[in-house]
Amino acid sequence: MKVPLLDVNAQNHPIGDELRAAFDGVLSTGRFIMGEEVEKFEASTAQYLGVKHAVGVSSGTDAILLALMALGIGQGDEVICPSFTFFATAGCISRTGATPVFCDSHLDSYNIDFDSAESCVNERTKAIIPVHLFGQSADMDACQAFAKKHKLIVIEDTAQSMGARHGSQYCGSIGDFGTYSFFPSKNLGGLGDGGLLVTQDDALAETAIKMRNHGMHPRYYHQLVGGNFRLDALQAALLNVKFAHYADYISGRQSNAAYYLEQLQGLPGMVLPSVEQGNEHIWNQFTIRVLDGKRDAFKQTLLDDGIGCEIYYPVPMHQQQCFADLVNHEQDLCANTELLAKEVISIPVYPELKRAQQDIVIDAMRAFFK
Ligand SMILES: *Cc1c(COP(=O)(O)O)cnc(C)c1O
Repeated sequence: MKVPLLDVNAQNHPIGDELRAAFDGVLSTGRFIMGEEVEKFEASTAQYLGVKHAVGVSSGTDAILLALMALGIGQGDEVICPSFTFFATAGCISRTGATPVFCDSHLDSYNIDFDSAESCVNERTKAIIPVHLFGQSADMDACQAFAKKHKLIVIEDTAQSMGARHGSQYCGSIGDFGTYSFFPSKNLGGLGDGGLLVTQDDALAETAIKMRNHGMHPRYYHQLVGGNFRLDALQAALLNVKFAHYADYISGRQSNAAYYLEQLQGLPGMVLPSVEQGNEHIWNQFTIRVLDGKRDAFKQTLLDDGIGCEIYYPVPMHQQQCFADLVNHEQDLCANTELLAKEVISIPVYPELKRAQQDIVIDAMRAFFK
């Protein structure tokens, strides 16, 4: 039996009739841009996350870009983000004309280390983008204290963690803006690209909503330079169907992760992912560290056994070619990140993964780590 890293069909095919009905609904209205389905999705996600404003957008990347644009961040500004993240976090900062400044992450949670961010602050620093990596909240108490101390704006990159909690608060609802992605591999996986931008601030929401549609208000009068960051009505309709099942998708991942944590504890030569106190982890990825330089050999063993796995992420942002000209700090600031890039590997944890498939993964791991 093969064990894929992710099987989107196992999630979408059982609700195929609901998805086709949603498609037919939009087809019959003939309204493909904005409209009721987008509004419904925004209302239900805002309620779920406990935020005042939720703005449907074209992708998780565009949500970050739109947040930065709405805040007026650009040339001459610096924005801090972890080096250990997906490219979009840093890429969006650069696209506004601002400079990304990379800080380190913790070895146990894989999340941003705010102590390492201290040395990244100067008079040009405007904002910080914590990333809630792999389904778990960054330390938002430390984040808010750091932001307050240095008077920085906080944009939470919550692409991988919609529904994860820090204490009683949902990730993405704590900072000035929260951004989410519905890329098919995310916990709420769409049938294409989609994203969401949330905020509690009325003025920021108003600016973001205008900028989502070319800064236009009223029609053909452009107060601001925005872009086309709209969420398709079709995608919203499909997401509305999937959002109704979201609690099950999350609990499926949590139950699979709990089984791994129980079955794999104590294996030598590897480190299991940790859940920080007060966090509810939603397991977008189940990511372990393989010690002693054996990560790539372990990866090859899994692949030979027909077990899907992936390295998120093999190259830290501060070592990417496109950022080679940024000289923002002394070299050893991101030492943990460099180690993580060499040690991490993610194994299948998607909600529809069966116990028998997990047992195959577990057996392969027990055979390798002994
Ligand atoms: C997926 C992801 C994004 C980008 O989302 P898209 O919808 O693919 O544009 C941004 N940040 C992080 C951390 C992500 O994992």
